[in-house]
Amino acid sequence: MDKISVIVPCYNEEEVLPLFYQEVTKELMKIENIDYEILFIDDGSHDHTIDLLKVICLKDDHCSYYSFSRNFGKEAAMFAGLEKSRGDYCVIMDADLQHPPHLLASMYHAVSQEGYDCCAGKRMDRDGEGVLRNFLSKSFYKIMQRLSNLDMSDGAGDFRMMNRLMVNSILEIREYNRYMKGLFSYVGFETKWIPFNNVERAAGSTKWNFKSLFSYALEGIFSFSTAPLKLSGIFGVFLFVGSIILSFYTAISTLMFGNSVSGYTTIVCLILFLSGTQMLLIAILGEYISKDYMENKARPIYIVKDSNRKHGYN
Ligand code: UDP
Ligand code: MG
Repeated sequence: MDKISVIVPCYNEEEVLPLFYQEVTKELMKIENIDYEILFIDDGSHDHTIDLLKVICLKDDHCSYYSFSRNFGKEAAMFAGLEKSRGDYCVIMDADLQHPPHLLASMYHAVSQEGYDCCAGKRMDRDGEGVLRNFLSKSFYKIMQRLSNLDMSDGAGDFRMMNRLMVNSILEIREYNRYMKGLFSYVGFETKWIPFNNVERAAGSTKWNFKSLFSYALEGIFSFSTAPLKLSGIFGVFLFVGSIILSFYTAISTLMFGNSVSGYTTIVCLILFLSGTQMLLIAILGEYISKDYMENKARPIYIVKDSNRKHGYN
């Protein structure tokens, strides 16, 4: 009998967890001939998430929880879930019911019967999200796709069911800076896409604001592409060629036509422009160096404070 592991990162989800548990259990019970486990990863919540999880896990032994010592982020929570899972298939789901549980049955069918390694949900619209966020997200995915050469289309999120082979391949990547959307694509494998409509979260509020989304986007670009470094080089070449042409032009116009060289404003503008671009390029370089620095430290991706599974028993 196949076992499905449902991995649920939870950060301050007290309002929606009981409903999520009910809905997901209902859908999992509909699937014939399977065993399942639901792994809740409490990502350092400050509300009563952990108390609720303890109650749920106490009365249902399909459920387990791992509680982090602080908020390590959704990427770390997903990694922990995959690492602790024991199922033949793993599915990652948000706790807010934005990932429709009724798709679980067709996802399982795709990976167990149709020969796919992975079946992923693809959000077809972005209703319930602001216009600006919508626009920025779409632009980001376009840029990302071009820069990384990986298939990372808009709407392709973390909601996916994978077989053990794919899960193990993802677990082998022990990067500290984790960008799961990229990693799914990086490891390859045959993926079936199932479209679904975006719904507003069932309760509670989103953990993302513009600042966190922006740094998430940068994380994606810097983790999966060295294009910014190449762009700096190309920019440098343009400036170099431009400066040579300008020097020749100035020399000729002064020596041959006797035009006196003036232009305090031009000089000030040029100095500001050049020092500005230099700082920007150093910042880009710094970004890569700091990534390398963090990788070299090889700190743990997450730290577990508490779990209902016995120590050392995974
Ligand atoms: N989440 C998490 N750690 C965080 C932020 C979010 O584990 O630091 C979880 C959250 O509890 C939810 C999922 O990640 O289950 C998606 O979060 P959210 O709904 O806030 O994101 P959105 O759907 O708005 O992209
Ligand atoms: Mg959500």
